[in-house]
Amino acid sequence: MDAEQLRECGHKMVDFIADYYKNIENLPVLSQVQPGYLRELLPDSAPTHPESLQDVLDDVQAKILPGVTHWQSPDYFAYFPSNSSVAGILGEMLSAGINMVGFSWITSPAATELEMIVLDWLAKALKLPDEFLSMGKGGGVIQGTASEAVLVVLLAARDKVLRKVGKDAIGKLVAYSSDQTHSALQKACQIGGIHPENCRVLKTDPSTEHALAPESLSQAISQDIASGLIPFFLCATVGTTSSTAVDPLLALGNITKSNGIWFHVDAAYAGSACICPEFRHYIDGVEEADSFNMNAHKWFLTNFDCSALWVKDRSALIQSLSTNPEFLKNKASQGNMVVDYKDWQIPLGRRFRSLKLWMVLRLYGLENLQAYIRKHIELAKTFEELVKQDPRFEVAAPRKFSLVCFRLLPRQNKEDCANKLNHDLLDAVNSTGKIFISHTVLSSKYVLRFAVGAPLTEERHIVAAWKVLQEEASSLLRVL
Ligand code: PLP
Repeated sequence: MDAEQLRECGHKMVDFIADYYKNIENLPVLSQVQPGYLRELLPDSAPTHPESLQDVLDDVQAKILPGVTHWQSPDYFAYFPSNSSVAGILGEMLSAGINMVGFSWITSPAATELEMIVLDWLAKALKLPDEFLSMGKGGGVIQGTASEAVLVVLLAARDKVLRKVGKDAIGKLVAYSSDQTHSALQKACQIGGIHPENCRVLKTDPSTEHALAPESLSQAISQDIASGLIPFFLCATVGTTSSTAVDPLLALGNITKSNGIWFHVDAAYAGSACICPEFRHYIDGVEEADSFNMNAHKWFLTNFDCSALWVKDRSALIQSLSTNPEFLKNKASQGNMVVDYKDWQIPLGRRFRSLKLWMVLRLYGLENLQAYIRKHIELAKTFEELVKQDPRFEVAAPRKFSLVCFRLLPRQNKEDCANKLNHDLLDAVNSTGKIFISHTVLSSKYVLRFAVGAPLTEERHIVAAWKVLQEEASSLLRVL
């Protein structure tokens, strides 16, 4: 490591990245390359002799960026956002610069302690119950993704119940979710050895705005108990992936409590909005949950990856995930004086991720972060109004946060053509390179998703995006 070389090259790299952001709006937001494009552009093997940074940057410009889908473009409206920010990038730089591996407290005390403090800060900003804070039996931890978060709590819940009923009962354990729950839960069940037939995916419909009905949970639990099975886990969602539906946490929590079921709340996307007092009610009932998760890397200006998970009973996680090999033993750990985050996650090694969240909270402050969320929600409302004003379209699900689900209506109400029509519209708008949106299926209807949340998006981008959608819809309807 040559510090002066780092200084010189680092400045060059920052200039390159700053120019990228300056120009990002002019790049096709969805990469338009064909599969395998890069193999034709790069050599077959690594260079024997060193090359210059400038040569590499030239290749990034000419060969890599065309194959990038620009998630930070102001014209990016697909899936959910994945924010970057000056604070987030600086935090990532610092983490890369220090480059420690903080699996145990002793391996970098500041990494563990900052993570505990910052997650307490964020828990307080979300007004989570005190039981999720680190001074009691609970605490927060940064996972890479919401998928890892649900996996670790599912494992903790599984082992907690198996300690009571015996390991042989694993085939009887039942996990509950709705048909809107993210597929991350299915993966967690697969990894956790939950029998596929014991993963209850409860149906939702438009009558509850695709939220999980407490009665359907109660009914399923009663049936399972009557069949000799053991209900052990519920994953509810605040802000489902398809349509941002919000499951009724309080009612569901009452049911899980009376049945001894671990209650996990996945607020991967919408959790960020709950730092605003006017949206906090969406997580009312979180007091009943055993664990709660939100992705700061989605809509909280924190660069990927940073998924915040809180648990009320950290010992459940630790009992499930801890190991204590000789080569990791040290006085602080043996004396039970510290948190060793290696026992709260799947891998051993872990990055200094709390730095970027700390920097986001300090450099922006909660007030600006609230204003940021509110602005996107206002922009989504603007888009929703534009959809409503055009009789050829309909809003396909109630908008709660910054996602608008909508679709183009088929001519003469020919519903059997509607799904293909919207599929074609999606392809048409995305291949313009001007905007990028995604889709879902809600109650058998193919629906377009317009997710506002990229940091650079302004009202003019919303208006321009709507124009692209209208123009492509007109072309499609003309040839029908
Ligand atoms: N849960 C919800 C509600 C999501 O919307 C997503 C992704 O969009 C996930 C979980 C999975 O997120 P991750 O990529 O962090 O695992």
